[in-house]
Amino acid sequence: MMQFPFNNSFVRMPDRFFSRQLPTPVRKPALIKVNQQLARQLGIDPDWLESDGGVKVISGNQVPEGADPIATVYAGHQFGSWNPQLGDGRAVLLGEVIGSDGNRYDIQLKGGGQTPYSRMGDGRAPLGPVLREYIVSEAMAALGIPTTRALAAVTTGEDVYREKYLPGGIIARVAKSHIRIGTLQYFAAQNDIEGLGLLVEHIIARHYPEAAGSSNPVLTMYESALSKQASLVAKWQMAGFIHGVMNTDNMLMSGETIDYGPCAFMDTYDPDTVFSSIDQNGRYAYCNQPGIAHWNLACLGQALIPLLDDNRDIATGLAKEVLDGFPECFFHEYMSGLRNKLGFSTACNDDETLAKDFLNLLAKNQCDFTLAFRRLTELAGDTSHSCTNAYFEFPPEFAPWLDRWAARHSTEDISRTERHSSMSKVNPVIIPRNHIIEQAISSAYDGDFSLFHQLSDKLSSPFNDIGENEKIARPPSLDQIVHKTFCGT
Ligand code: AMP
Ligand code: MG
Repeated sequence: MMQFPFNNSFVRMPDRFFSRQLPTPVRKPALIKVNQQLARQLGIDPDWLESDGGVKVISGNQVPEGADPIATVYAGHQFGSWNPQLGDGRAVLLGEVIGSDGNRYDIQLKGGGQTPYSRMGDGRAPLGPVLREYIVSEAMAALGIPTTRALAAVTTGEDVYREKYLPGGIIARVAKSHIRIGTLQYFAAQNDIEGLGLLVEHIIARHYPEAAGSSNPVLTMYESALSKQASLVAKWQMAGFIHGVMNTDNMLMSGETIDYGPCAFMDTYDPDTVFSSIDQNGRYAYCNQPGIAHWNLACLGQALIPLLDDNRDIATGLAKEVLDGFPECFFHEYMSGLRNKLGFSTACNDDETLAKDFLNLLAKNQCDFTLAFRRLTELAGDTSHSCTNAYFEFPPEFAPWLDRWAARHSTEDISRTERHSSMSKVNPVIIPRNHIIEQAISSAYDGDFSLFHQLSDKLSSPFNDIGENEKIARPPSLDQIVHKTFCGT
């Protein structure tokens, strides 16, 4: 019996799309965690995945039946600078499976060894970034944000050198595909229009089937990809998520979040927040994320020009028209997200001002972003129960704003219970806070994975009320604040 029900498609693209690459075996693999529910959804027996046989596959020590392992090629703009050739430098795509939802999913081993695209890199990942990706990508999924998933993680029994020796890890990453804006840029820059056309056909069939029947499928795909990115980044903004490395090779055509290197959630609300130690100019600060998505989509439009029309001027005009729609499309998604978070079920012209005033107050008073919205949720309900007020209360300066907010609610014909319930579904109690992730990682480096497991467990239901003594809901104390995250390469 095939342990993974592989059904591979990308590997049938022409040879120049990838290099065949087996994962490199490791010395002494040990299981950290299997995502049981995700395994089931992908038609993989979770108990088998947890067994020695499963660990052999996740560690790259055994290639499962039906796999056709490859490393894919791409290019990209990194911090705005063009890099004509990148590729999976430490990731091997084992193959694809069709999930129980009918979607096709890639299964990739990240940290699986060197490939032709490794350049100077060792093809490996330290344990810390593997755990960070596991925790944060699964938390994102639980928050309802499109994302790559974590199927399983192992330690390798080998050290990797990053300023010092660290234990190595491998994460099995699942994505609707790993095709990036940078993948299209690669073929466009090579002037390989045939390859570009084949790639777009593949993307349409896989992610935008509705575009196939339109009069200009490539243009329709571009429009849909743009809406998906707008919706994705609006969701990041709603969660206080800072990606940290929005290079065009880290933006997936499927509209899922990928690459959890230097990412972090904001504690105190400050639009200028930057965590990544390598982002010295704040290019990827929280407030710049929508603008950068727009910039990345301009790169996508540029790459698509040869396919949009035989006449270059016409093609450029078509791309520009779609691209110019981004700000409005984003704003629509953003405002609708904010309305949900503030508990409005209808749209009103003054909502933007009301929302902005709230965010300005949060910034001025250095309030915790997540807890402020959750506290609003509690105030909207009519129960006296509160799990956040043990560690969060609005400062007195909020009183006039809270009156305006309550007055806005009274214009809607909705019970307090209903409003409380809908707000509870969009305003989480717990997010993967950086200082707690750091604690989980540092205990794991000492051999203790209990905090990692606890965190993973709790973050799978981020909207549930929790007890007052729950440390993971609390913002960091002054000495716990993490100011910088490091790209875990
Ligand atoms: P990232 O910053 O993770 O998006 O990676 C940028 C590029 O560097 C990608 O092409 C990666 O495959 C490659 N890369 C990152 N880390 C390593 C590594 N340890 N070994 C080889 N290649 C790597
Ligand atoms: Mg990357």
